[in-house]
Formats: sequence, structure tokens, C-alpha cells
Amino acid sequence: MVTVRVPAKVNVQLGVGGVRPDGYHDLANVFFAVALGDEVTATAADGVTLTCTGPDADAVPLDGTNLAARAARLLAAHHGLADPGVHLHIAKAIPVAGGMAGGSADGAAALVACDALWGLDTPLETLLELAAELGSDVPFALLGGVALGRGRGEILEALPVSGTFHWVFAVADGGLSTPAVFRECDRIREESGTGATIDDVPTPDADPALLAALADGDPVALADALSNDLQAAAVSLRPSLADTLHAGTEAGALAALVSGSGPTCAFLAKDADAAAHIAATLRTSGTCRTAHATYGPVPGARVVSAPTP
Ligand code: ATP
Repeated sequence: MVTVRVPAKVNVQLGVGGVRPDGYHDLANVFFAVALGDEVTATAADGVTLTCTGPDADAVPLDGTNLAARAARLLAAHHGLADPGVHLHIAKAIPVAGGMAGGSADGAAALVACDALWGLDTPLETLLELAAELGSDVPFALLGGVALGRGRGEILEALPVSGTFHWVFAVADGGLSTPAVFRECDRIREESGTGATIDDVPTPDADPALLAALADGDPVALADALSNDLQAAAVSLRPSLADTLHAGTEAGALAALVSGSGPTCAFLAKDADAAAHIAATLRTSGTCRTAHATYGPVPGARVVSAPTP
């Protein structure tokens, strides 16, 4: 039995370019891994089977579409294993369809767990390639820390960061579909007259002030530099998010933003005590289902318990 812990992510910058001819958007994505995470346990079994526990477990598909199951099959196929056998149990803490890349995290965790269970010793570089095949957010869940993602987000460059930043995440009832939020972003751009294609929107790039704030470990400077080009679209599809963002700011957050494509909202706090206070205030504010205080950056998917050889 092998257990892997894997972090959720918040995008401290999510710059969205125009729609490319292939339908994707170029992104300048600064991913930040937080301690709020899932655990995936792999046990020897016949075939690939799944179970899931946690507050959002009912929303997690337990068939072959689950990213953890797809990851197990992809790793087995890469190594030519004809009959891969694994039972994967997901202990789910990351909100589902919440803009925190929870499915991608489970895919990354399953790659690492099956690799250890099956004794494959796959090089990290190969795991990163398999991860990119599974989805654009999966490689970052393997890497963790803070990283700049380009292209669709899958071309990663680790970024220097100092110290620990304290965060609060307010979890909404129900998720938002990531493709729907991108479509809404395009619709808003078209409606406002700027246009939504790569000819209309400048290619996004990492914000130097944001990179400096991360390298300096300066939460006040980071708060000033946080940005999410999908925020207006997420709030347009779910107007109540404006109330959640306001409630966290009123409770003392240095900054508030929608996490990725939402609807989870992220709040940067000045320290751990402030984060605990903001989370407690949000929990009773009536503007979210629950709120978690956490911190980061933390490492990517890693084995936390395995049989001693
Ligand atoms: P992202 O931030 O990468 O856009 P997200 O955090 O908004 O993603 P996920 O929690 O990854 O969203 O879930 C999106 C959808 O993926 C779910 O609605 C579900 O149908 C599917 N899915 C597949 N595998 C998983 C998994 N292991 N955990 C959760 N959802 C999964």
C-alpha cells in the first residue's frame, strides 16, 4: 500500500490571451501549491478500481473518466504492463470543480502512487510528460512549489520564492465548469468591443512585480500584484461570489481573488493568526459553504507512507 499526498493550487496570476485557432488560450499562469490537499492510496488489486471519501465525494466520478484511473492506465501503457492492477482510494479535501485543480492533483498523485506500487522508478521527466498528456494542470501538481506555466499551462518553470504565505479558501456550493468560464471570458471581451482572438488580445506574460513579491516573501506586495483574468467571467456566471470576496476583505484579508476558474475564492492573509480569523469569519458569513485556512508553498505529489523494503 502506498499513500501519496498532493497539493491544490491557486493561481496568483492567471493571464489569459486570446482564443487560438485550435480553440485553446495562451496563458501566463503562476501556480502556487497550498497545503490543502488530497491523499491517494494505491493498493494491489485486480484491474483499476476507485473509491473516494470526503465532503464532495458524491461529485467525483468513479469510472474510467476519473483522472486518477486515467493516470494509472497511462503509466501502465507507457511501461507496456498488459494487466495493471491497482485500487486507488482518494481521500478528497480539495473542492470539486472549484478552480483548485483537484482532479489534476489526483491524476498526479496516482502517477506517483502507481509508480511506487509497481516498482517502476519512472524518471520525473517522463512522469511530467505523462502528466501533460492527462491535462494542462497535472504537471504542476507533480512539481508543487511556485511555477510559471506557459502555453496551455503545461510548460513549467519553477520560480524562486521565500518564506511561507498564509491563505484562506472559501468553498462555494456547487462547482463551475472551466470551459464555461473561458467561454464567458471570451463573451465579455467580445461584448466590450476588445475582441477575443489572439489578434485582439496581447499575449500575456508574467508580472515582474508579482515575481519580485514571491522571491522576497512579501505578502503585502504579493497582495497588490495578484490578478486573475477569469475573475470577471466567474463572477458574471456566479454573481454571489462578489459577496464572498467582499466578506473576506472586510474580515481583514490583504487581497481577495477568485481561484482559477472559481467558484472557490482565495484570500491572502498577513500571517497565520489573520488567516484563522478570516476563515472563522467567512464560515459564519453566509457567503460560502465553508472556509479553510492554509499555507504554502508546499511540494508536489509525494509518497507519505509506503511499506518498508
Ligand atoms: P481546474 O482548476 O483544473 O480547472 P477544477 O478544480 O475546477 O479544475 P476539478 O475538481 O478538477 O475542477 O473537477 C472538474 C471535473 O473533473 C469534475 O466535475 C469531475 O467530473 C471530473 N473529475 C475527474 N477526475 C476527478 C477527480 N479525481 N476529482 C475530482 N473531479 C474529477
